Amino acid sequence: MDSLCWRRFFVVVITTSIFLSCLPIHRSKLVEIDPGKDSDTVQVRFLGVGGFYIRKGDDAILTAPLYSNPKLPELLKKPIPPNVARIDRFHPKTATDVKAILVGHAHYDHLMDVPYVWQRTPDAIIYGNRSMKHLLAGYKRDPVQDTGIPDIPPGKVIALNKEGANQVDYSMCKANGAPEEDPDCPQKTGGAGGWVSVPKSKVRIRALCSQHPAQFLMFHLWTGCVSDPLKSVPQKADEYLEGETLAYLIDFMDADNRTPLYRIYYQDAATSPTIGQVPPKLLQEKAVDLALLCVGSFDTVTDPAHIVANTKPRAVILGHWENFFRPQDKRLKGIPFLDVKRLIRLVKARLPETTEVYLPAPQTLFHFRPARAGSAPTSQP
Ligand SMILES: [Zn+2]
Repeated sequence: MDSLCWRRFFVVVITTSIFLSCLPIHRSKLVEIDPGKDSDTVQVRFLGVGGFYIRKGDDAILTAPLYSNPKLPELLKKPIPPNVARIDRFHPKTATDVKAILVGHAHYDHLMDVPYVWQRTPDAIIYGNRSMKHLLAGYKRDPVQDTGIPDIPPGKVIALNKEGANQVDYSMCKANGAPEEDPDCPQKTGGAGGWVSVPKSKVRIRALCSQHPAQFLMFHLWTGCVSDPLKSVPQKADEYLEGETLAYLIDFMDADNRTPLYRIYYQDAATSPTIGQVPPKLLQEKAVDLALLCVGSFDTVTDPAHIVANTKPRAVILGHWENFFRPQDKRLKGIPFLDVKRLIRLVKARLPETTEVYLPAPQTLFHFRPARAGSAPTSQP
């Protein structure tokens, strides 16, 4: 590089460093969520990337976390085995009674660690799309030798867009056309779906049609679906085809399991309007209390704040914002070239001033009160 190039290079590096140091990151000490305490509050811990650990009393839910964090060159060349040591280190020790693990789409950064996380809480049912179910079919115990590969019974994995029994709510994907058609993913339109009760819990979920944007500029990697069950564990990132992307409503219900007390909206990929929105009819039944939104690739969609305009949540937590090619014990960095502060401005502009918008460091823990009056976390992260 000539001297001008070097100068430009240093300007970019320094600007990026200053930019990151200015991000309003929320942090907390590592606190285990205690199932026996605070049964009136909803506790939410950001686990990194798309992962959240959500608990109310005895009911605990996970959204798919990533702890292995393979480096970018590893994705291009090598198989990407999970990093079990990192899963052991970063996954919450109390998350052994989780009732459901929600997966929005089947890319490696949302699925590769899920079997090993499930192994730590094997009563959980894993919900997602058909592509996910077909990928997880490869997780079977080797009858000859113990390879440490989790043995996931097929009944523990549910495809919510199962052909002939599709439970996805497509109400808000009709106005602007359903998500792009893909001949390998035959069913991307349908009716209003329905609520799915999570067994042995007072939680119900509703899958909403959503979409996955290009990851960078116009480059959209690993599109399409895995159309048949795998016979062995997927080895490389390009085997994790995204399938139909889903967002979720998660309702924590009252003691009678009839009325929702606390509603969470969860998104694991940014969308353009009106894809991924909650149908007005559902919002009239119960407002959204907390929105968990995906920062990654927000700059490749139009109006990335449309979800908060639609859901009007009482609080927002932004996830999937950090550089996920680095493990959690390395210095925290944002996704390169992504102006997270701009997204925060866009989101805040669509909400009342009192609504908190959090950008948490991985393992940050929040406590929220279900009652309408106590919208702010009971303890600051
Ligand atoms: Zn993805």
